[in-house]
Amino acid sequence: MTWEKAHDQAFKAACPKCKASLSSNMKFCPDCGEKLHDYKYCGACGAQMPSSHKFCPECGQKI
Ligand SMILES: [Zn+2]
Ligand SMILES: [Zn+2]
Repeated sequence: MTWEKAHDQAFKAACPKCKASLSSNMKFCPDCGEKLHDYKYCGACGAQMPSSHKFCPECGQKI
C-alpha cells in the first residue's frame, strides 16, 4: 500500500456531480458533462470547492 502516492504532483480531483476522477486542467467532466471551471482546488490539500470560496473547507488554507 503506497498512500504517499496520493500526494504526488499529479493529484486527482473528483467530479462534484458524479464523482468521476478528473485532472485539474479539465473544464468539463468527461462522464457527466458537468461544467468544472466554476470550481477550484486547494493548493495545500487538493480539495475541490466552488470558486466563490476564499478558504479551503478541508484545511483552512487561503485560496
Ligand atoms: Zn461528472
Ligand atoms: Zn485544503
